[in-house]
Amino acid sequence: MFSVAIDGPSGAGKSSVCKCAADKLGFIHVDTGALYRALAYNALKNGINTNDEILLEKLLKTTKIEIQYINGLQAVLVNGENVTDKIRSEEVSMGASNISKIGIIRDFLLDLQRELAEKNNVIMDGRDIGTVVLPNADLKIFLTASPEKRAERRFKQLLEKGEKKEYNVILEDIIKRDYQDSHREIAPLKPAGDSVIVDTSEISFEDSVLKITEMIEAKL
Ligand code: C5P
Repeated sequence: MFSVAIDGPSGAGKSSVCKCAADKLGFIHVDTGALYRALAYNALKNGINTNDEILLEKLLKTTKIEIQYINGLQAVLVNGENVTDKIRSEEVSMGASNISKIGIIRDFLLDLQRELAEKNNVIMDGRDIGTVVLPNADLKIFLTASPEKRAERRFKQLLEKGEKKEYNVILEDIIKRDYQDSHREIAPLKPAGDSVIVDTSEISFEDSVLKITEMIEAKL
């Protein structure tokens, strides 16, 4: 099986770029952030603080998490409930960043991620795919963009959905999550030593997809 590991900070466009590239190449796209989000959603739903390690560990004992592909789109199920449309709020984003600092949470998701890469040609995106989850991936890319560009894109995305949020608040959230993700002890966000850095600050979405697809094709 061929595996591509794509890591990078929040809002760099990893998921949408990877999804398009995966569709073009006939690979599956695994958005691992959705797994952390699903666990955070489940904690919040059960009234558990996403920084409370002891209660989170207890909750994991009764948690089953699955990935399914429905019409080519990744769906995440927690104890049989499809939570895919419920995990995109800012509260869940920060909750996911909180829980992802915890070792037992990361271990809980590790086998599922590796199994997917053993059975399929994958483009897997996240924070630690090239460094921890798939250290032997055939290609590793660190996809990034400046915090300002990422905030600008998020601002426009929200506006298109009819939601208005101040640019400065979005930028602050992005900077806070970047800091938290890259300064944690376990599996911090960082480029793998053997990854190629792709900065999309000045590249359009279409060109980013083209670039990533060409990089993968060159390795196939
Ligand atoms: O990629 P996304 O923004 O959906 O991820 C949500 C959060 O999940 C990130 O801020 C990060 O803390 C965590 N995460 C992680 N490792 C991954 C994917 C996501 O720690 N492989």
